[in-house]
Amino acid sequence: MIDYHIHLENGPLTLEWLGKFWEAAQKRGISEIGVTEHCHKFQQFKTAFAYLKEGVDSYEYMRQWLKNDFQTSLDDYLELLTKAQQKGIPVKIGLEVDYLSDTEAEIKEILSNYSFDYIIGSVHIIGKWGFDYYPQAWQNQDVYQAYKNYYAVLYDAVCCDLFDIIAHFDLIKVFGHHSSISMDQVVDTVLKAMSRRNTCMEISTAGLRKPVKEIYPTEAILQKAFTYQIPIVISSDAHYPEDVGSDWERATKLARRCGYKEYRVFSQRHSFAEKLPK
Ligand SMILES: [Zn+2]
Ligand SMILES: [Zn+2]
Repeated sequence: MIDYHIHLENGPLTLEWLGKFWEAAQKRGISEIGVTEHCHKFQQFKTAFAYLKEGVDSYEYMRQWLKNDFQTSLDDYLELLTKAQQKGIPVKIGLEVDYLSDTEAEIKEILSNYSFDYIIGSVHIIGKWGFDYYPQAWQNQDVYQAYKNYYAVLYDAVCCDLFDIIAHFDLIKVFGHHSSISMDQVVDTVLKAMSRRNTCMEISTAGLRKPVKEIYPTEAILQKAFTYQIPIVISSDAHYPEDVGSDWERATKLARRCGYKEYRVFSQRHSFAEKLPK
């Protein structure tokens, strides 16, 4: 099995820290890892996120959160991962990129200057609202509207053609809020857009470690994804070594129940099918 969604942000950008993730991976039967640091860790993305700190709807928590970011360079990150490959660690070079509608062109330009095995696209911010940072962010929010807005942004993220994989598809449920009005139709629109582009759906076990205590996406969404022949990857979204590969057996069972027999591995923005373990 692989684990294609790993963050190094809670430690230094060193071979030693990365090595701890690889050690933990091996213990769980993972044979390949992919590191996908958040784009906002890198100075190259500072101006793309600048609009979040200014003007209407900008808020203190977001400003504080961004203050500690953009400290390192993408060049150092890529250098570390290349060095790890040379040392024989089977690590793929990825990046988790927030889809920000107003700065799509800028992000495209940055990504074009570097070479990655794959890019994960994700939505954590709707307009200026960071909905998954802390539960209080949901005070005074209309859940149905939040869901509708989330899937509208996710649709744009799929259609911008920058991403090979869509992360944590139904992250909007992170704190256990559920829309009382059906989202089936909007979700369907996003899935169809992914299917047309052959964009991968991430099955993420991170949700099991969040208040919602569910895998992303739900089984109903994954069943639909299978009928649209959307390929999958299985990921932990680990931020610490002990989370690498967590619950991958459970994710595999879910994938099989939905009809999947294969997952994808990536190299240089191309994907190849591998058999899902029994
Ligand atoms: Zn994410
Ligand atoms: Zn992540």
